[in-house]
Amino acid sequence: MTDPDRRASATATTASPLSSDPQTQFDFLVVGGGAAGFMAAITAAEQGLQRVLVLEATPEPLSKVRLSGGGRCNVTHACWDPTELVGHYPRGQRPLRGPFSRFASGDAVAWFADRGLDLVEEDDGRMFPQANRSSAVVNCLRQAAKRSGVQLITGSAVQAVAGDISGGFVASCRGGGRFHAKRVLLATGGHPSGRRLAGQLGHRLIPPVPSLFSLTLDAPQLLGCAGIALDDVALTLEVGDERFHQVGRVLITHWGLSGPATLRLTAFAARALQASRYRATLSVSWCAGWSQGDLLAALRNQRTQAARRTLVASRPLAAHLPRRLWISMLEEVGVAADQRWADCPAKLERGLFDRLQQCRYPVKGRGPFGEEFVTAGGVDLGEINLATMESRCCPGLHLAGELMDVDGVTGGFNFQHCWTSGWLAGQSVAEQLTGSDRTL
Ligand SMILES: Cc1cc2nc3c(=O)[nH]c(=O)nc-3n(C[C@H](O)[C@H](O)[C@H](O)COP(=O)(O)OP(=O)(O)OC[C@H]3O[C@@H](n4cnc5c(N)ncnc54)[C@H](O)[C@@H]3O)c2cc1C
Repeated sequence: MTDPDRRASATATTASPLSSDPQTQFDFLVVGGGAAGFMAAITAAEQGLQRVLVLEATPEPLSKVRLSGGGRCNVTHACWDPTELVGHYPRGQRPLRGPFSRFASGDAVAWFADRGLDLVEEDDGRMFPQANRSSAVVNCLRQAAKRSGVQLITGSAVQAVAGDISGGFVASCRGGGRFHAKRVLLATGGHPSGRRLAGQLGHRLIPPVPSLFSLTLDAPQLLGCAGIALDDVALTLEVGDERFHQVGRVLITHWGLSGPATLRLTAFAARALQASRYRATLSVSWCAGWSQGDLLAALRNQRTQAARRTLVASRPLAAHLPRRLWISMLEEVGVAADQRWADCPAKLERGLFDRLQQCRYPVKGRGPFGEEFVTAGGVDLGEINLATMESRCCPGLHLAGELMDVDGVTGGFNFQHCWTSGWLAGQSVAEQLTGSDRTL
């Protein structure tokens, strides 16, 4: 069966008569009460759509918003230039330029401020609610939805969406509920049921693979260093013929390496790593901010300034290099506990210089968990009009949020994509049904 055949059969064979019960008739039906779904529903309702319904499978909407950012919700990132913003999306990048040129981080900050929620920027650019609690974001979205007349039904898992005879859609829920709507948005996040619905409506799905995870290393020498966090570390991951590079903060864990730079690295390498069954080689420059000359000078300086002290007691770059990490390097090179700088053999010094420059560790697999649990993969972006988030396969159907083949690195970028795609979908539906674009 070709793709167009599949689409035709998905809508034609399941077409259902239009209900006359006003309780089940809506202009806009949003499947999934998460960040993207709420943003779309509120936007459409605020633009004048009267009958907007959100169907949420679980008893509580916005549960990921509540959980997010360790209970603080990293709402977005202080990255104001759309061309720079797209660089934070391993899947998305260039295609997201258009959407972000209409609604980006600055627009999200203003959108929340207009609805009473101020965001504050942290030193690293992440933006959190001023109250520093995710519940403030949940309350803001819920109140905005209520004020604009959005209806919400929880505990309603949509099992099928099909065309109805009026040219709209009918959604059937587990347990028997049926709802008719002129337009439908799928905003089901990474849940398999949403992917199934999108597939049934004719969309090609890029298979999901994990993104944003820590790495399990074959590095017994790092075991004593668990808990150390270090800035300005350069990571290079070799996966088959491919190379991935990041510089930033890392955290040494009991199993290997985590921290923002590691998560960014694995996000960009997510597909290559999955293809290699998570076997790769990681090179780590613990002192990436220092040139070869600087490192040599730092070692020579130890010889002259700390000649009578042992290598264990006096380390180079002491302000940057944690003691436990230095000790692990000494053990690896085979330095004796009473070795003094004055008579340190050149061979040992060379070994230490090599390790300060770069250490190589075999990657054994993924770490147990990441900071933001997102999946790479979802509905192929080529099948979505990214100006409106409307499906190219199934007119009248829109898609937003994590269900799309878009994922960002850690730092608020994943929610930003939800606000952007949800806002564009809500605008587009309101414009189509009320015949006006009130943003112009
Ligand atoms: C622990 C954790 C922390 C995170 N922290 C951050 C952070 O601080 N900043 C950031 O940018 N990103 C963060 N993320 C990622 C972010 O949460 C997601 O990118 C975002 O929630 C995706 O939003 P969404 O609306 O697309 O999907 P979701 O938030 O997953 O919402 C989809 C909703 O649809 C419902 N649903 C699914 N299927 C059906 C169905 N068939 N019928 C009806 N309803 C259905 C689900 O129950 C769910 O409520 C975090 C993720 C996790 C797991």
